Amino acid sequence: MKSQAHHKRSRPKAIFIRKYPSKKTNNSNSNSNSKCTMAATASQTSAAQNAAYDIPELYRMRPAVVDALETDSSAMQQDTIEECLPFLLGEEDLGPRNVHGIPLLDKQRHLNFLRKQLGPLPGAFMAADPSRPWFFYWCLAAMSLLGEDVAFYREKLVETVRPMQNATGGFAGGQGQMSHLATTYATILSLALVGGEAAYDVVDRKSMWHWLGSLKQPDGGFQMAIGGEEDVRGAYCQTYEGGISAKPSVEAHGAYAFCALGCLSIIDSPHRGIPRHLDLPRLISWLSSRQYAPEGGFSGRTNKLVDGCYSHWVGGCWPLIEASISGPQEGFAAEAATPATEARSLFSRNGLIRYILCCCQDLSKRGGMRDKPSKNSDAYHSCYVLSGLSLAQHKWTMKSARLDATVLGSDEWVVTPYLEGQQIFSEDDRLATTHPVYVIPQHKADDIRDYFVNKAGF
Ligand SMILES: [Zn+2]
Repeated sequence: MKSQAHHKRSRPKAIFIRKYPSKKTNNSNSNSNSKCTMAATASQTSAAQNAAYDIPELYRMRPAVVDALETDSSAMQQDTIEECLPFLLGEEDLGPRNVHGIPLLDKQRHLNFLRKQLGPLPGAFMAADPSRPWFFYWCLAAMSLLGEDVAFYREKLVETVRPMQNATGGFAGGQGQMSHLATTYATILSLALVGGEAAYDVVDRKSMWHWLGSLKQPDGGFQMAIGGEEDVRGAYCQTYEGGISAKPSVEAHGAYAFCALGCLSIIDSPHRGIPRHLDLPRLISWLSSRQYAPEGGFSGRTNKLVDGCYSHWVGGCWPLIEASISGPQEGFAAEAATPATEARSLFSRNGLIRYILCCCQDLSKRGGMRDKPSKNSDAYHSCYVLSGLSLAQHKWTMKSARLDATVLGSDEWVVTPYLEGQQIFSEDDRLATTHPVYVIPQHKADDIRDYFVNKAGF
């Protein structure tokens, strides 16, 4: 990090040297009042303990420059850095680490966790009953990323979701509940994940078509349910910060950014749809500000903490941004793989990989992936942390684009292992890939689309 102390500033007291607890820094620099010493805040303890690991300074050091205004948010940010550093630096026992200080991805442990999450859950999950289809999607998507063939769950899933479909169209979160766009989305992705005609034919497309039409609003957005809220999960709103919010006049948020970019990439190819509707440079600036150091992971909003799930919500924006900048790469040959080595990444892939493998794995008996070390693992974070890890490990290229916006979803995407720079993770820890727009494996997305494209009428 470049210290702002070297720039001339009109408000000299806007920055100061953060005094860290002595047990961590043990830094008795006698010039601590001089701003010029700020770069020397790396923990001596850490340096000594981690001499064996090749960890870039950016992911070892506490931020050299912090805002002079102390608030609850800045204190929590400081606490989060202190929480993550021992995991990043190799001081926490996470089993064997490689030369880069990165522990292995314990795939088997995380698979066991996800299998359990698909079974009966404890009473505390009662409130999550209307979100049941999300658990199907989170678990099945995460298991697919870990290399599991989830077709095994087809029959069970079909039996479970069929009664959740209302005759008026759409899927509810449970039997006898109201249809909702979010649970409909999760259900259809889950059906696509298990694949096969028996799964696809559960969907009553005609009533679904009518129901979707009834949710459409005069301003172009969609309600989430009949009479329900209208937000960016059906539309999009860019804020002054450059990010995307749920609706006009509220704060920009990483998850809404992904929903908006995904939506724009469904209704037209990203290189046309995204710049046409959004201020791209401002959006890139806001997305770039979401990645923190030394943590390496993403936050969802300005002044919020790093959280593993934004590995997907924010990390997943990057392939769509990249495609919107470069447009279709007609001559791209996946076999040659050289373009991936030359590609420039708009975020620190290695920083994100560090955060995920060091801080987001629950390596206790429980398994699963989590927000940060102090949080419990869950199905939601397992899905989106692994999705973000896969996106950091692979490069998605839009090889050809549909002719125009009247053709739905026929852009051709090609995936190659990301080969730029030094690979800091073990090849055994490479995940399966997930489509940058639909967030299910590419062949599953192709299969369900082909099935319905070839079907006459509804
Ligand atoms: Zn989260």
